Amino acid sequence: MPFIQPFLMSASVILPPSCIGIVGGGQLGRMFALEARRSGYRVAIFTDERPGCPAGQWADAEFNAQYDDTDMLDRFLDRVDVVTAEFENIPDACLAYVEAKKTLRPSRRAIWTTQHREREKLFLREQGIACADFRIVTSYEEFEAAVGALGRPCVIKTAAFGYDGKGQKKIEANTELDGVWTDFAGQHAVVEKWVPFVCEISVVGARGTDGRMAVHGVIENIHEHHILDLSISPARVEPAVQEQALELWEAVAEGLDYIGTMAVEMFVTDSGQVLVNEIAPRPHNSGHLTLDACLSNQFQQQMRAVCGLPLGDPSQHSPAVMINLLGDLWPAELTPPDWTPVLSHPRAKLHLYGKATARARRKMGHINVVGETLEEAWESALQIKAALNPGLS
Ligand code: AMP
Repeated sequence: MPFIQPFLMSASVILPPSCIGIVGGGQLGRMFALEARRSGYRVAIFTDERPGCPAGQWADAEFNAQYDDTDMLDRFLDRVDVVTAEFENIPDACLAYVEAKKTLRPSRRAIWTTQHREREKLFLREQGIACADFRIVTSYEEFEAAVGALGRPCVIKTAAFGYDGKGQKKIEANTELDGVWTDFAGQHAVVEKWVPFVCEISVVGARGTDGRMAVHGVIENIHEHHILDLSISPARVEPAVQEQALELWEAVAEGLDYIGTMAVEMFVTDSGQVLVNEIAPRPHNSGHLTLDACLSNQFQQQMRAVCGLPLGDPSQHSPAVMINLLGDLWPAELTPPDWTPVLSHPRAKLHLYGKATARARRKMGHINVVGETLEEAWESALQIKAALNPGLS
């Protein structure tokens, strides 16, 4: 394989058993650690969670401290050869500290841009990337004017620390604006035109240090109470929609000069237009089906990109459906459901995140179901879901 030789000899390539640092301690870090360790890398995590968090359970070393604890950050950075992040809400001062001492992939700029809705939206506008029309508001007067300009319904979202529908409120025809503003006052917020979408999709892919990109196909997402419930791949959308979605993903990745795995969530309108909703600078919940359905899953791609290796083949070998497992499914905090319907199915796989205590809406794990056809995977997924929670089906 002569084409690989020069690449591996390049000084910037990070090979096993080098140590990859992960900032964050959740399930995305856990699945990344599992993937990287399988290839012989060592993994160290830095997190403000307690020891034994989901990622810590699989890491070689765990550094638990607040994100401004530079002594602990130094100890972590001494241990690692390269750093990545498993969530975006990391204080910028911490990202700056890390990037000053070690290579950070994706970069501080990419994480900084996408961790804040205002910066993310302005980036999309600057790049000419299609998204819902929006206004940035910092006062009640601006809020009122934005709602007037965009029309109702529209939605107001906090600029910082919003995810899974947290920190947002739909403005309906009869919504009193001053009541809504009380909750948002003092914060920057984004007011967005309401998109009457026909479906929500995401594209998960990776961009390597050489600028090459490899995307998994388009994934269809079904949310419940703003939290992902089911992901379906391939998405049941027209080829023109797929084409737009892939182009949008590439435009975002290039605009951010992105290195690593990235997900872009999008809306599909009834006229077949695709609009970017959100960018996740990391592997993504909707990409979990790549673990069992693709040649190189989203964490493998992240590992390769972060280490400067050529990306793997992202092709999907089996149609798949992912079922998210939220804490609501647990009969009691410490009592998991009866897993028989999943474990007895030959084409379903149970992925649990090692969280001892279940809470409502907490992401506890997921199930991937594959099939010869998407219909088969879909039918199996619905049966498993109904059997796990007969009360809700
Ligand atoms: P977000 O936290 O921005 O990803 O929003 C969570 C969910 O709220 C999305 O997955 C959509 O289902 C819905 N949503 C957010 N923004 C809009 C919008 N502008 N129009 C319609 N639905 C939206």
